[in-house]
Amino acid sequence: MLYKKTLRLFVAVLVLASFAPAQQPQPAKGSAVDAERLRAHVTYLASDKLEGRRTGTPGAEEAAKYVADEFKRLGLSIAFQTFPYVAAVELGKGNAMTLTTRAADASPQAKPATLDMRVGEDWMPLGFSSNARIEPTMVAFVGYGITAADQNYDDYKVADVKGNVALALSGTPDGDNPHGKFTRAGELRFKAAAARAAGAKALVVVASEDNFKDDKLTRLRYDNAGGDAGLPVVVISRQAAAKVLGLGGVAQLAEVEKRVRGWASTSHAEQPQGDWLTRLKLKAPEGVALTVNTDIVRKNAPAANVVGVLEGTDPQLKNEVIVVGAHYDHLGRGGTGSLAEREGEIHHGADDNASGTAGLLELARLLSQEKAKLRRTVVFIAFGGEEEGLIGSSFYVANPARPMEQTVAMINMDMIGRLKEEALMIGGVGTASEWRGWVEEANKGFRASVDPMGERPQAAAPLYDAVAAGQKTGSVEAPIIVTGSNGRVVATVTRAERFALRLNEDGFGPSDHSSFYAKRVPVLFFFTGSHEDYHKPSDTADRINYAGEARILEFIREIVYDLQASEKRPTFAVAKTEANARSTGFRVYLGTVPSYAESTDGMKLDAVREGSPAETAGLKAGDRIVKLAGRDIRNVYDYTQALSEMKAGQEYEVEAIRGDKPLTLKITPAARK
Ligand SMILES: [Zn+2]
Repeated sequence: MLYKKTLRLFVAVLVLASFAPAQQPQPAKGSAVDAERLRAHVTYLASDKLEGRRTGTPGAEEAAKYVADEFKRLGLSIAFQTFPYVAAVELGKGNAMTLTTRAADASPQAKPATLDMRVGEDWMPLGFSSNARIEPTMVAFVGYGITAADQNYDDYKVADVKGNVALALSGTPDGDNPHGKFTRAGELRFKAAAARAAGAKALVVVASEDNFKDDKLTRLRYDNAGGDAGLPVVVISRQAAAKVLGLGGVAQLAEVEKRVRGWASTSHAEQPQGDWLTRLKLKAPEGVALTVNTDIVRKNAPAANVVGVLEGTDPQLKNEVIVVGAHYDHLGRGGTGSLAEREGEIHHGADDNASGTAGLLELARLLSQEKAKLRRTVVFIAFGGEEEGLIGSSFYVANPARPMEQTVAMINMDMIGRLKEEALMIGGVGTASEWRGWVEEANKGFRASVDPMGERPQAAAPLYDAVAAGQKTGSVEAPIIVTGSNGRVVATVTRAERFALRLNEDGFGPSDHSSFYAKRVPVLFFFTGSHEDYHKPSDTADRINYAGEARILEFIREIVYDLQASEKRPTFAVAKTEANARSTGFRVYLGTVPSYAESTDGMKLDAVREGSPAETAGLKAGDRIVKLAGRDIRNVYDYTQALSEMKAGQEYEVEAIRGDKPLTLKITPAARK
């Protein structure tokens, strides 16, 4: 290994010294990672033409086709693996909402006044709303409609919504502060979970813009995470909301909002008794009822993983598979997951993850050149649906090209284009007992400094002295010094680490390797770190460090090379969890790994961490949790709410469905470290 590297470098340096003194050392074209090819791939994938490659859009299809064409050209056998994906939601024909009011002085015989609200003008269902018909039902105002146990804050404490429609303000008492106390609990998905847990029949959210059509909630959209809300969730215009609350108009509504915010930010112990309207000194309008009929049509769209196989040649080992993967999808023109200030601009996703996709293509090119020598089979996968919640990789591990038991390792590249100060993050080093050793070995390298117009030996004497001194103390290993035919020092080569590695044991993380680790496959996850362009339109091709990425790929290539050649497959190990209270915001830990791709009733578990409270309780991968700590669980949002209310060391009941059998178990959460 070491010898090979030394030799390669030497040849390059000597060629330079004797023939081409003014040029950078260039390894033979085609046999090394080519930064210019990376640039070409990233530039195309991150171009405006592909419109941000949002799963289910023509841009993503085009990206998949590009990858498939490259794989084909390299002689890989390819397959498009399509998976179900909801790309759009549309209004069905049955949407209707009617407001019924009865004047206080009207006789009981008088017919109540009804006001038909127009969908799109006065109200809109949200993409994750359930389809249901709610007969005329009383409305209860619930402030912001937030339940945040970790903040000791609950808007439902003073609102009796059981059997009623809950009417909530948009946003949080913190305003739009992304680092506020209510960031999670204030998300609509969690507001819906809180309303359902409080027994509301529907959740009606008040728009934040006076002009209804400017409000972003009116843009019907689906997030592919967690299924439908389990109750109708709609947004209504501020004008309509004022009518429901019996207010004079939007100016008075703004005043109400201000006062709610005021209450919410005072110490909750000092809050006066009474429901929201009493607190706000508002007279509840009498006889107000809403009839709500929601009808959302979910449209499936083509979405696919591109799978390219390079068959191994060893009669036995070729049955074993190394998966090398990167997701090719990104955020399109914004929406869910975007951190852009405005909507509608193309999110180029050059680093996330055109960089990883380009890396995948380069590794496929280089390994296909060494096809005859490959012992194990290498499966290259460009995943779709990553940004929507690892949908593509979850689908792959459930429907693998080769059996999962024969999958010896998964190498994931996600955002490898921003190498800075040599810092390379590698996740999953705790998932195989051999990983740490392999990674550290691969990180051994040399640093060459080349100066074709170098000093004469006399002038370089201090360098020799320094090296000699360093050698005596052991702090410096002997450098290799190359002198040119004219006697000048043209190059020095010293031992050095290739990267400043930041290793993380955990096999779970925010990318596709998670899906494989959940199936007990050793994983490695390569990542150059987050940056200010992350999930914004400004993640563009010109900001990629192509030379740095090429070096990372040489590193990964060596690991893949070792993997295919090694007699023994890496030994799976259960990694230490490095998630802590700060990263998750929870005080308790159960050790469950939810499946984000499923959208069935209940929360399906992709995995249960070994030695965790969930394992002790008897939960298993594949179980569907339907009730936890007294809360009905339909999706990951309900589950998160339940988790935020649990206390470490206390025993709770958990109900789950295994196959089609219901079971009730006892679980005792542990404290977060
Ligand atoms: Zn991303």
